[in-house]
Amino acid sequence: LLELEGIQKRFGGLEVLKGVNLALYPGEILALLGPSGCGKTTLLRVVAGLEAPEGGWVLLEGKDITHLPPEKRGIGFVFQDYALFPHLTALGNVAFGLKGKDRLEKALKALDRVGMTLFKDRRPHELSGGQQQRVALARALAPGPKLVLLDEPFSSLDAGLRESTREEVRRILKETGTAALLVTHDQEEALSFADRIGVMRGGRLEQVGTPEEVYLRPKTPFVAQFLGRTN
Ligand code: ATP
Repeated sequence: LLELEGIQKRFGGLEVLKGVNLALYPGEILALLGPSGCGKTTLLRVVAGLEAPEGGWVLLEGKDITHLPPEKRGIGFVFQDYALFPHLTALGNVAFGLKGKDRLEKALKALDRVGMTLFKDRRPHELSGGQQQRVALARALAPGPKLVLLDEPFSSLDAGLRESTREEVRRILKETGTAALLVTHDQEEALSFADRIGVMRGGRLEQVGTPEEVYLRPKTPFVAQFLGRTN
């Protein structure tokens, strides 16, 4: 579905991505893990089209989208700094990107799936951080994209809600065959939510594999140490 080939990105003198290669299959959930500053968010922003890479290609279904603007990529995303529209209600936010006369119905269904039906008429400033995050998830998923990008999508939710929302989002992704590329700081979340995990270090992907593979058979001492194993 998604192929990244030799993605390079620098900010001034800082080389943040040093040639990242990655392939995501249709419907697959892949979580990026790695220390703070290793380039996870930047990689997601390159895929979204919010940052232009200096080198490499982004292919979606075999098509080169490297230089396509974000709104033409047909990718859903939830980024921390990509807030909801403040003047629209929760329902308005979710319906915004939808087309057709059943768009309000679709938006309501999307809000219902993240447990936000009761809050549909509230504006973002009348919602908690966790509630805003769930509306943002509904907004990303409602148009039925083939791929969603999620940057710490569950970070503002408290523990109980985090687990239930995560399970619900995983169910939605699997039912609709939507692929997801996400960034998380939470190893346990990555291991339970994702089909595969990519461990990043200093602008490179050090290992990509199933949770079992990276956890039980780390390729490098760094991966072993990062996942808390010492063998
Ligand atoms: P974290 O887990 O802390 O969010 P990360 O792995 O997501 O980290 P990035 O946010 O991708 O890391 O940042 C990688 C590096 O690039 C950091 O050193 C950051 O300071 C730098 N950086 C990111 N965006 C910019 C920018 N717009 N301008 C300059 N430097 C940036």
